[in-house]
Amino acid sequence: MEISAAVKKEIRYSVVQNILKHYQCPETCEAHCCCNGQIHFFEDEVKVLTGIDSEKAKRITNEGLCAGLYQMVTPCSFLKENGRCGVYENRPTVCGMYPFKVNTSGNSVGLQPCPIGFMIIRDFAELIVESFSRSGASDEEKAMIKEEWQKNVDSYETELTEFHSRTSLNEMQIPFDELEMLSIFLSSKKAKNS
Ligand code: SF4
Ligand code: SF4
Repeated sequence: MEISAAVKKEIRYSVVQNILKHYQCPETCEAHCCCNGQIHFFEDEVKVLTGIDSEKAKRITNEGLCAGLYQMVTPCSFLKENGRCGVYENRPTVCGMYPFKVNTSGNSVGLQPCPIGFMIIRDFAELIVESFSRSGASDEEKAMIKEEWQKNVDSYETELTEFHSRTSLNEMQIPFDELEMLSIFLSSKKAKNS
């Protein structure tokens, strides 16, 4: 589903895609992102989904379908019995960015700790610790940062317990510039490993 180039840039769509291409959803996760949580629509997406099936489109939220952020009525009315998206080619931007969120204001993006989200959080922690280890900080400071991020990772790991049945999760906010750094970090890690 096409959204304007300006909006894509604003929400860091291509950076998020560059990050997500390094991960694969585990088979054990049965499309939980389509069964719970919030969903965001841009105006054009409302038109396209309504054009495909107006009844199903209306049922995605309790408030009908208009541009904005909503609590999804679950599971999503477009989710097929085989766990696949029935409108994959036309799925809303928010679905293509999950577990990252769509943020049209501010300078960071929320990342939810579903199984893929947690793997990203772990890699992000590795990036921060590695960057800090190359800085001029003392060994003591470096050890403190390492310990602090290990605690962060452990705390996000606990969010995975029954994550799919909760209406809200403790998410990590990643500033846009660090999001770009993560994308570069993952590509260089992949290049080193190949
Ligand atoms: S994006 Fe997350 S919640 Fe959705 S299927 Fe993949 S691992 Fe599961
Ligand atoms: S539109 Fe598709 S990807 Fe998005 S929540 Fe519904 S079934 Fe899932």
